[in-house]
Amino acid sequence: MPEGDTVWLHAHRLNAALAGATLVRSDFRLPQLATVDLAGYVVREVVSRGKHLLVRLTSPETTGGAGWSLHSHLRMDGTWGVFRSGQPWRRRPAHLIRVVLETERVAAVGYHLHDVKLVPTAGENELVGHLGPDLLGADWNADEAVRRLNAAPARDIGTALLDQRNLAGIGNLYKAEICFLRGVSPWASVGDVRDLPAMVQLGRRLLWANRERWPQITTGDSRRGRQVWVFERSGDPCLRCGTVVRSTRHGGGPIEDRLTYWCPSCQPGTTAPAQ
Ligand SMILES: [Zn+2]
Repeated sequence: MPEGDTVWLHAHRLNAALAGATLVRSDFRLPQLATVDLAGYVVREVVSRGKHLLVRLTSPETTGGAGWSLHSHLRMDGTWGVFRSGQPWRRRPAHLIRVVLETERVAAVGYHLHDVKLVPTAGENELVGHLGPDLLGADWNADEAVRRLNAAPARDIGTALLDQRNLAGIGNLYKAEICFLRGVSPWASVGDVRDLPAMVQLGRRLLWANRERWPQITTGDSRRGRQVWVFERSGDPCLRCGTVVRSTRHGGGPIEDRLTYWCPSCQPGTTAPAQ
């Protein structure tokens, strides 16, 4: 599931492949950007901001000044591949390709990307300025994340953790795992959560620990089927107590965030409202 750590790793890999290089060809297979040609642009850096990815570019006409930012979001199904020049692009079917950025050495191919936009770098805030503290950002601020969560104490903690305006980077997997590890029902009110700062710090620790690898492991066990406590394990026994893990629809956010998973024994208290 692409969450903040996955996007961070994509940005890291893309930055290693592209930063400092001049694009020799670009290809946008999207109606709104079909006529854009970034040949001659220099890639300054590739960064993540929460679950958003930004490729920052300098246009050949500007010297050291204004640049452009190519924004994208992976949602549930997006990914990037980096291929050496001349190597076939085999990561996903070709019809899913949305963006190609080529240098003399590599091709960065974005599959099934969402919210692809090209904006002046100075205007990035229109796309990412609403985000709360980035769990993997250099400017991570746990106190500010706690303050934002506490601003709506009646809200359920599951939805509040997913709200990128509170803290940026948590998706459905980490939401479920953080609630499990803290023994908190996803439907508990924010105001009823014991030790909210510890919950926020746990989120930071989990994303940080997973940022340099593709699998998302919250149990400390990398074996298949043992990597997470409850996410996508409904019907299976809880790895801690054996109670059957449950799942149900939760909230009205993006479709990938609508199912929540929990262990009724390890996470007692407020239960799911009747469906
Ligand atoms: Zn349990």
